[in-house]
Amino acid sequence: MKRAIYPGSFDPITNGHLNIVERALDVFDRVTIVISTNSQKVPLFELSDSIRMVSEATKCWSQVDVDHNDGLTVDYARRNGIHTAIRGLRAVTDFEHEFSMALTNRSLWGEFDTVFLMTKAEYMYLSSSVVRQVAQLGGDISQFVPKCVENELREKFDKKPKA
Ligand code: ADP
Repeated sequence: MKRAIYPGSFDPITNGHLNIVERALDVFDRVTIVISTNSQKVPLFELSDSIRMVSEATKCWSQVDVDHNDGLTVDYARRNGIHTAIRGLRAVTDFEHEFSMALTNRSLWGEFDTVFLMTKAEYMYLSSSVVRQVAQLGGDISQFVPKCVENELREKFDKKPKA
């Protein structure tokens, strides 16, 4: 069985993330989305909310499960006997950071590899931070995120989409 983890902040999960999961399922039998706390970012959502939204957004795929991890990605992977991480690549801007992280992870555990998948062109500039900003300003985010996330964001910022 080919297994992979998809680690990230998912704050919140977007259609860009989901497109990567869908592509990963063409290659892997089982994908575990691992919600990780990123020390460089202050999260908008509580971990329990993120787990609930990611679970809801991926419930149509029985080969996907959701977990969380506070420590190193490679430690999580080793504990679970998984040797591959999936990461998404958008514009060139992602490359430098992703490249350094992939090589660092491989230095930490020589049996660990990162597989990069490219998103659909329409999601190329979509990020959780852009979604958070648009939602905070009351913009329509329905094309960027699954329905459950749209509802939670709207509730959080207590605003209706502008016509
Ligand atoms: P992190 O804080 O670890 O970067 P993110 O949730 O922002 O967590 O992203 C997790 C992964 O998903 C990263 O590899 C990121 O490049 C990728 N990703 C995020 N948004 C998109 C998108 N729109 N298309 C493709 N990949 C994406």
